[in-house]
Amino acid sequence: MKTKRKHAVIIGGGLGGLGLALRLARRNMDVTICEKNSSVGGKMNIHVSDGFRFDTGPSLITLLDVFRETFQDAGELMENFITPVRIKPLAHYVFPDGTSFDYTSSIPEWNETIKRIGSHKHDHFYNFMQLGARIYMLSKNTFFSQSPYQFPPSLNLKALRYFPLKNAWGKYSKTVSLYFQSQYLQQMFNRYPTYVGSSPFHTPATLIIIPYIEYAYGGWFIKGGLYQIIENLKTLCEKNGVQIKCNTNVREILHKNLSVSGIRTENGSEISADIVIMNGDASMTPILLGDSSKRNIPPNRRSLSGIVFLIGVSKTLPDLPHHSIYFSASYEKEFSDLFTERKFPEDPTVYVNAASRTDRSLVQGEGETLFIMANAPANDNDSWDKEMIESVWNSVYNRLLNGGFPDIRKDIKHISVWTPKNFAERYCMPGGAIYGQYSHGWRATFLRPPNKDRKYKHLYYVGGSTHPGGGTPMVLLSAKITADLIKKYEI
Ligand SMILES: Cc1cc2nc3c(=O)[nH]c(=O)nc-3n(C[C@H](O)[C@H](O)[C@H](O)COP(=O)(O)OP(=O)(O)OC[C@H]3O[C@@H](n4cnc5c(N)ncnc54)[C@H](O)[C@@H]3O)c2cc1C
Repeated sequence: MKTKRKHAVIIGGGLGGLGLALRLARRNMDVTICEKNSSVGGKMNIHVSDGFRFDTGPSLITLLDVFRETFQDAGELMENFITPVRIKPLAHYVFPDGTSFDYTSSIPEWNETIKRIGSHKHDHFYNFMQLGARIYMLSKNTFFSQSPYQFPPSLNLKALRYFPLKNAWGKYSKTVSLYFQSQYLQQMFNRYPTYVGSSPFHTPATLIIIPYIEYAYGGWFIKGGLYQIIENLKTLCEKNGVQIKCNTNVREILHKNLSVSGIRTENGSEISADIVIMNGDASMTPILLGDSSKRNIPPNRRSLSGIVFLIGVSKTLPDLPHHSIYFSASYEKEFSDLFTERKFPEDPTVYVNAASRTDRSLVQGEGETLFIMANAPANDNDSWDKEMIESVWNSVYNRLLNGGFPDIRKDIKHISVWTPKNFAERYCMPGGAIYGQYSHGWRATFLRPPNKDRKYKHLYYVGGSTHPGGGTPMVLLSAKITADLIKKYEI
C-alpha cells in the first residue's frame, strides 16, 4: 500500500531552512518554505548597488566538508555549483601600538612571526592547537552530529576517555593565557569566541576548537560571493520539488492538544502540515505558539549583534588583505562595555573584509568592496538613529586610521549601514543577536534549544539559534541533525 507523503512547513528560508528542506525533499517529503522577506538566505544575504556586490552577513566559512556533504546528500558535487577559494593568509592583525602581522597556516612563516612578535616558544602554539584538535575529534561524532538530549552510541562514548581534561575546563581566556604569554597572541586567540557572538572571558575553554578548525581546515571564500551558496541551494531545493514562498510572514503555529498542525500567515491564510520546523530565531517560537508558559531567552543572555558598514570605494587598494582586524587597546574593557554595560564600546575592535581583493567580479572596473564590522550589544531599545550611527562610525574610522588604514573618505561611492536594529527587524532576531543565546558557561554552550520540541509534537527547530549553534557550518550540521530526528520520529 502506498503511504501518503508527509508535508513539512519550514518557517524561514535561511541557510538552515534551505539545508533542511533539501534533505527532507530527498527523503520523499513535500516541503514548503515560508520566508517573510522577498528573498531567501536570511542573515547570509546580498546587497548589490552602484556597481558593487556585497555579502551582508558571513564573510568567511570554515569546515568546507560540511558544505560539500550538503550537496552530496542531494546527489550533487559541490564543485559543480560553487568555487571555494582558500584565503591566505587567514587574516592580517593590527594592534594599537603599531605592531602588525599576518596569521598564516604556513608553518615556516608562522614560526618566523611568533619569533618576531614575542620571545616565547612556538611549541606552545602547537600544543594549543593539539588541545583544540582533541576536543574537535571528540565533538565531531557526538556534540556536532546529534541532539544534545540524545544518548550517544556506546562507541562514541568510549571516545570520552580521550577527553583532554587538562586546560579544557575553565574559562577560554584563562586557557589562552596558559599557552601564550605574548599579549598579541592572547588578544588574537581571544577573538575566536566572537565567531559565536560571545566573550572570551566567559566562554568555556572547549571553544578552542574554533581556532583549531580555522587553522586546520582553512578559512574560505566563495567566488562571486558567499551568497552563491544560497542561490545554489535554492536552485537544488526547487529542483527537488521544494515550494519556496517568499513575502510570507508566519504569524502563528497552529496546534491542538500539544500537537502542531500547520501555520497561519500574516494575511490570514493557513497551510496545514504534518510537521512544522522553526528556522527563525528559536526564542520567537512561544510567540508564534501563543504559549506564555514556554521559556524565552532573557535579553541579557543574548549573543552579540554587530554594526556593518558596506562601503564601495572608487579607488583600487592593492595592499589591502582579504581579512584584517584592527584591535582595541583593551579587550577586557571592550567586552565589559558589550556584555556588562551593554553599550557600543568606546574603543571598538574593527574587522575589515575586502572580498574584491580576491574576486574582481564583485566590482565593476576600479574600486573595492569593503565590509567593515564592529561588535555591538543586542539591545531592544537602542535608537540607532543618525546621531548614534555617526558617533559609532567616528570610533570605527579612528580605529582604522590609527592602524594605518588608507583614508578612503573622498573615494566612497556607496555606503549602506546595517545596525542591530535593522538585523532585528529584517530577520526577526530579538535585539539583532546574531547567534541566538550567548555561549557563556557550559550550560548555555552545550544545552542550546533542542532540535525537537520537548512539549509540542511534530515541532522541530533548525539553524543558528538551536543546537549545535551559530555560524554557517554549525547551521548546516543542525539541518542534518534535525533531518535525522524527523526521519526517526516522523517518517
Ligand atoms: C553580519 C554578520 C556576519 C556574520 N559572519 C559570519 C561568518 O563570517 N561566518 C559564519 O559562518 N557565519 C557568520 N554569520 C552567522 C551566519 O550568517 C548565521 O549563523 C547563519 O546564516 C544563520 O542561518 P539560519 O538559517 O540559522 O538563520 P537565518 O539566516 O536567521 O534565517 C532565518 C530566516 O527565517 C526568516 N523568518 C524568521 N521569522 C519568520 C517568520 N515568522 N515567518 C517567515 N520567515 C521568518 C528570516 O527572515 C530569515 O530569513 C554572520 C552573521 C551576520 C549577521
